[in-house]
Amino acid sequence: MEKLKLWQKITVEIKHELDQANFKTWFGNCFLKEVVDDILVITAPSAFIKEQVTLRYLDLLTEAAEKILGKKVKIELVVESNNNHKTVPVEEIFEAPAPSQINILNPKYTLENFVVGMSNNVAFAAAQAVVQNPGISYNPLFIYGGTGVGKTHLMLGIGHAILKKNPALKVIYCSSEQFTNDFVSAIQNHRMGDLRAKYRLAQLLLIDDIQFFSGREGTQEEFFHTFNELQSKNSQMIITSDRSPHEIAKLEDRLRSRFAGGLMVDIQPPDFDTRVAILKAKANEWGTTLPEEALKLIAASSEVSIRELEGKLLQIIQVLKAQNLPTTTENITLFLNKTPKKLPALSHQQVLTIICHYFNLANKDLIGPKRQKELVLPRHLAMYILSEELGMTVERIGQILGGRDHTTVMHARDKIKNLITKDKEMQQIFIEIKQELSTN
Ligand code: ADP
Ligand code: MG
Repeated sequence: MEKLKLWQKITVEIKHELDQANFKTWFGNCFLKEVVDDILVITAPSAFIKEQVTLRYLDLLTEAAEKILGKKVKIELVVESNNNHKTVPVEEIFEAPAPSQINILNPKYTLENFVVGMSNNVAFAAAQAVVQNPGISYNPLFIYGGTGVGKTHLMLGIGHAILKKNPALKVIYCSSEQFTNDFVSAIQNHRMGDLRAKYRLAQLLLIDDIQFFSGREGTQEEFFHTFNELQSKNSQMIITSDRSPHEIAKLEDRLRSRFAGGLMVDIQPPDFDTRVAILKAKANEWGTTLPEEALKLIAASSEVSIRELEGKLLQIIQVLKAQNLPTTTENITLFLNKTPKKLPALSHQQVLTIICHYFNLANKDLIGPKRQKELVLPRHLAMYILSEELGMTVERIGQILGGRDHTTVMHARDKIKNLITKDKEMQQIFIEIKQELSTN
């Protein structure tokens, strides 16, 4: 096969596994240089891209190439900055340009609807102090805590409150992943000036989930300079993380000390009363009132993540509505009894077996390379369950599911998470699988 054609086919395969922004970032300027026996030599525009693609996507690339060529191959990446091979119209694969990285703050999350309790009152007080004196009292404000405890909500709430006082302020909200992608594509496209103009001119910078900076040296370096610049101008920065700066592995010491140099506050998992209060507030927001007793039952059914509680509440409201049942304590008890609280200790193999059984698939297909629709949903569900229910790392899940990349697992997990809150059919499938898992 001609090499341009081959590269095009490989990129189509890769595109199935990555979102558009990631694809552009990592593969937008990579090309197939030559094929020598069973070795495919691929050029990367910089050492950084080469390193990252090797780290994250080597398996995916190999898998895609092997699928198309029908034989075992090896992939070799080389750095070649001025690209003579740029003949494949990679851009054509996607219709739309990469989404803008500057986000409008989600209006759902405000300080007004943030329920304050024992677990988050210190963080809330810090938030109020920052709103009073942005850029001056506590810079950065570093909020950390487990998943679903309200970090993003609090950060955006502060953002709204500061904007209310000063609507002309230049605000940037992004995840650390978006910052990384922005940085990488700026390098690729020789647009570092634009990147700097964008971030260093921010007057309020909100960076979510900074733990993903771990191990990304170039990004950390760039962020370090952004940080210093903003701090010297008294531009407020708010950072969230799932752990404290000291617990983030592979983070430069100078960043660690900068993060710890402002105000660090943690949010604990909510206590029972706070969970009840949050559920009550959420039900009200959705235009429903539930009996106090029912709220307590739901609050007791899950302990750590408010996101999970909220998902459960929404599910209950929707399922009962779909069956035309009133939201009484009895009906809610019935629902909660049907959806088990916690799964018994299961091995990942048991989970895969149950999923295969449910969808009537062979295990080797579930973990194999094929990407038919009938296999993709079960595979993604498996990733979701292994991550959310068994608490396995995305890296390990990738290995178990036939050596897939951890970013693939992350996308799949988030996709399913989203589907479960929105799609009735998906909810049903999930409930049934959970029942199977719990009776196993
Ligand atoms: P995190 O960023 O810590 O993972 P989020 O901020 O996304 O968590 O919160 C998860 C969900 O829980 C959101 O829908 C948020 O509105 C809700 N939530 C968390 N804490 C509170 C709180 N104190 N009051 C009201 N809702 C909350
Ligand atoms: Mg968050």
